[in-house]
Amino acid sequence: MAARPAPYLDDLNPAQREAVEALDGPVLMLAGAGTGKTKALTSRIVHLLNTGRAHPNEILSVTFTNKAAREMKDRVGLLLGQSVDGMRWMGTFHSVCVKLLRRHAELVGLKSNFTILDTDDQIRLLKQLISANNIDDKRWPARMLAGIIDQWKNRAWTPETVPASEAGAYNNRGMELYAQYQTRLRELNATDFGDLLLHVVTIFQKHDDILEQYRRWFKYILVDEYQDTNVAQYLWLRLLAGGHKNICCVGDDDQSIYGWRGAEVGNILRFEKDFPGAKVVKLEQNYRSTPHILAAASGVISGNEGRLGKTLWTVAEDGEKVRLIGHWDGEEEARWIGEEIESIQGGSRGMRPFSLDDMAILVRASHQMRAFEDRFLTIGLPYRVIGGPRFYERLEIRDAMAYFRVVTSPSDDLAFERIVNTPKRGLGDKAQQKIRAAARENGVPMVEGARILLQDKGLTGKGAAELSRLIDGIDRWGRMAGDAGLSHMELAEIILDDSGYTAMWQNDKTPEAPGRLENLKELVKALEQFENLQGFLEHVSLIMDNESDAGGAKVSIMTLHAAKGLEFPAVFLPGWEDGLFPSQRSMDESGLKGLEEERRLAYVGITRAEELCTISFAGNRRVFGQWQSALPSRFIDELPEDHVEVLTPPGLYGGGYGAAGMGGNAGIETRAAEANVYNSPGWKRLQSRAATRPVSQPQEKRNTVIDLQATSSHTMGERVFHQKFGYGIIVGIEGDKLEIAFEKAGVKKVVARFITTPDD
Ligand code: ATP
Ligand code: MG
Repeated sequence: MAARPAPYLDDLNPAQREAVEALDGPVLMLAGAGTGKTKALTSRIVHLLNTGRAHPNEILSVTFTNKAAREMKDRVGLLLGQSVDGMRWMGTFHSVCVKLLRRHAELVGLKSNFTILDTDDQIRLLKQLISANNIDDKRWPARMLAGIIDQWKNRAWTPETVPASEAGAYNNRGMELYAQYQTRLRELNATDFGDLLLHVVTIFQKHDDILEQYRRWFKYILVDEYQDTNVAQYLWLRLLAGGHKNICCVGDDDQSIYGWRGAEVGNILRFEKDFPGAKVVKLEQNYRSTPHILAAASGVISGNEGRLGKTLWTVAEDGEKVRLIGHWDGEEEARWIGEEIESIQGGSRGMRPFSLDDMAILVRASHQMRAFEDRFLTIGLPYRVIGGPRFYERLEIRDAMAYFRVVTSPSDDLAFERIVNTPKRGLGDKAQQKIRAAARENGVPMVEGARILLQDKGLTGKGAAELSRLIDGIDRWGRMAGDAGLSHMELAEIILDDSGYTAMWQNDKTPEAPGRLENLKELVKALEQFENLQGFLEHVSLIMDNESDAGGAKVSIMTLHAAKGLEFPAVFLPGWEDGLFPSQRSMDESGLKGLEEERRLAYVGITRAEELCTISFAGNRRVFGQWQSALPSRFIDELPEDHVEVLTPPGLYGGGYGAAGMGGNAGIETRAAEANVYNSPGWKRLQSRAATRPVSQPQEKRNTVIDLQATSSHTMGERVFHQKFGYGIIVGIEGDKLEIAFEKAGVKKVVARFITTPDD
C-alpha cells in the first residue's frame, strides 16, 4: 500500500510525532495525565496501517477497560476515516486472551466452549471445596481463599509454581485447595477471570511453536495504561514481544491504581532493562485541563514519595478554580449535584452551557452511586452507570443468564444448580444431592446425572415430573439454538417463558417484581447486538461497563477506577471524606502504600476534568443502612488554596431536606456530626483562607451557591454568641444573614451584626 498523506501527523507535537514515527523497536512513552499518550498511541496505529507496515489484524493493542478499548477503536476509526472492524486484536487483556484461549483450550485441558465464571460462581465453587475439605468456612472464608488465589494468578503462579514461601497461606491449606480448585474448574470446563491470562501464559511457555506463531503474527504490540499491568500481563507481553520487539507502551506512574490487584509500577521502570535500546519519549504539554485543575492535581500528588516526577504545562486559559463544597449528608450531596448539573447545563455563572454527555460523577466506592441514581430518577435527569456492581449482577439477570448458560454448555453445573429449583420445582437440597451423586457416580455433568436419576427412578413424585420437564426443556432449547430460522432473542424469550421463570416474577407480589420483569426485557434487548447467546455470555463475563446506548445525552456515573483514561469537560468528585476517600482500609494499613495509591486515585479523578472540577464531601453518610459521620478528606487539605474556591451549600437546616428518611434520632446524631465537620481543622482552614482572600472579581450570585469571599467576615463552622439565643455554630451564610445552629434554641437565621464571637 502506498503511503497516503498523513494529516493525523500534523495534529501532534514534536515529541508525540517522534513516538509515532519510531515504528520499529521498543518505545516507552512516560508522561503525566492528559499529555496525549493515548492520542499518540492511536495515531501510531493509524500510521502503521497507513504506511502498510501491518494489516489491521496483525496489530495487538491492549488496554484495561472495555470503555477505553472502545474509545481507542473509535479514535482510530475517526483518524483512519473508515471502520476498524478488521482490528480483531484490539481490546482488553482479558478479551484478547479469551480469543487466544478458545483456539488452544485443549492444551490446558479445556474445551473451546469453556465458560468464564463470575465472582459469585467462583465463591460458590470454593465453598463446596472448603466444606469437602472439612474446613470451617466461618474462620476461613471462601472470599479470603478467592483473594489469595487471585493474587497468585496475577503473579502468574500455577499450582505447580506457587513458591514455598506461600505455603502458610489460608491456614497452610491454600496451595492444596488451589490445586483442587483448578482441577474442579477443568472438570466443569470453566475458567475464572485470572485463568484467562494464566492459561495463555502457560501455553506460550510450554509450546514454543505456538508462541513463535503469534510472535510472527502480531507484528506490532501497543499497550495503553502500562502502569497498571500485573506480573501475568507483563510476562504475556514480554513473551509476545520477545521476537521482533516492536512494542510500544505508554503510561504514567502517578496513575497506577491497581496495586491492590497485583499491578506493579515496577514494570514501567523495568521496561528499559527488558528492552535495551528502547526509545523513551516524555510528553509535558497537557492538552486536557485548565491551569487551576492541573495545579490542584499536581498539589495533591506531590504528597507522594518516590515519584518519577514530571513537568506538566498548558497554554489553556485559567478558567474556573476547582470548586469545593460540604454537605450535611450524602442525600443532600446528590441533591445539590443534581441541581448543579441542571444549572450548568443551561450555562451558569457566566460559564458556557455543558451537555449532559460532558459531565461525569466519579465515585470512590460503588455504593455511593445509589444516592445519585435515586436522585436522578426522581428529577428525571438522564444518566448512565458505567462499571461497578450493575445490571448484569442483578439477581434476575444472573438467573436468566444461568438458563442461557445451561443451554449453550450443558456441562455447566454451576449454572444448572442455580436454576434447577428456580422457580420452585420441588427440587430442594435432598433432590439436588441425589442429582449430584448420580452425576459423580457416572462421571457426567449434572444434567446427564439428572437424566440417569430419572431413568433409574431415583426420584419420584412432583419433583421427578418437574425435573423431567426441565430436562426436556433444556434439550429442546438446545436444539432450537441450532435453528437458523429462530433469532437468539426469540430463543431467550422462549427459554424464560417455557421454564416458568418469567411467570415466577409475574406472580410475585413484592414491590421489586415489576422492576425485575423490566430488567428481563432489557436483557433480551441487550442480546440484539450479539450473534448468538454464547457471544453474549462471553461479553457479559468480560465487560466492566454496561451503559445503555439508547439515544440522548446522559450524565455518566462511574468509579474513579473505571474513569481511567477518560476525560469530561465537567467532573464531580463527591464523597471526599476520610474513611471513604481515602478508604478506611488504606488509612488502617501500616505504611503509606495504600494511602499513596488512594492519592494517585485522587490525581486520576481531578485530571479527568477539562474545564470544571467540583469536589464535595458530606458530614454524614448512610453506609449499608448505618449512619456514619465523617471528616473531610485529608486530600482536601492538600489542595493548593490558590486554585480552590469554596462554595457554601444552600440553607443547611432550613430547606427541610435531610430530615426525610433520617428519622428523629438520627437527626440529632447527625447534627452533632455536622458540627464536627465544620469544626474540623481542614474545613476551618479552607474557610478562613477563603474568607480572608480579597475578592478578585465580582461573581454573579445565585441563591443556591453563595460565594463566601464576597459576603461575610464570618466563616462556616465558627462558634458564635447571640444575645438572645446563646452559643451556636454557623452553618450557613447568605449575605449579611447567618444561619446558626444554636446549642439550645435550634437553627435560626439571624442578622450578622447581632452576633459576637466568643473570643472577641
Ligand atoms: P491519560 O493519562 O489521562 O490517559 P493521555 O496522556 O492518554 O491522558 P489523551 O487522552 O491522549 O491523554 O489526550 C488528552 C486530550 O488532549 C485529548 O482530548 C486529546 O485529543 C488532546 N490532545 C492530545 N495531544 C494533542 C495535541 N498534540 N494537540 C491538541 N490536542 C491534543
Ligand atoms: Mg490515556
